[in-house]
Amino acid sequence: MTTKVIYPGTFDPITYGHIDIVERALRLFDKVIIGIAQNAAKKPLFTLEERIALVEKVFANNNKVQICSFSGLLIDLAREKNVMVILRGLRAISDFEYELQLANLNRSMEPKIDTIFLTPAEQYAYISANMIREISALNGDVSKFVPPIVLKALKNKIS
Ligand code: ADP
Repeated sequence: MTTKVIYPGTFDPITYGHIDIVERALRLFDKVIIGIAQNAAKKPLFTLEERIALVEKVFANNNKVQICSFSGLLIDLAREKNVMVILRGLRAISDFEYELQLANLNRSMEPKIDTIFLTPAEQYAYISANMIREISALNGDVSKFVPPIVLKALKNKIS
């Protein structure tokens, strides 16, 4: 039996924090499915296609990582993919309240699917895609927080 987990998010754009979580999950599961949420309400900087392309490039050499997008309920995507575990990252206590609410809501919709949480390496614990977009927009250096391909995409987007 292959063990798999689904890691959902907006990934606007993917950061070393997200990548760290995926790498940790790959030590625990045979396969990680990254579910990229359309999330139009959040008005992402990168289009869904751009976000998918960046994640695909980052994990191009890893056949244990599968990428898909979704615009409906996460729980429906998990059911469709036959995945029983949802993965989320926890950076700080401040993430916890929102994440707990989400996990409980998902469990109330589908009791057989559980959410697990992983924490990133300390050097990524204070970064968010949101902060990276803001720093980039102000011409700050985010090369410590995103892979070169994402850095390039950010520069193109902002200029
Ligand atoms: P969402 O819009 O669903 O919050 P994100 O792309 O911002 O999507 O995040 C997806 C998941 O990755 C969330 O569980 C978030 O807490 C986690 N995450 C984001 N940045 C980091 C980080 N630097 N370290 C660990 N987890 C992170």
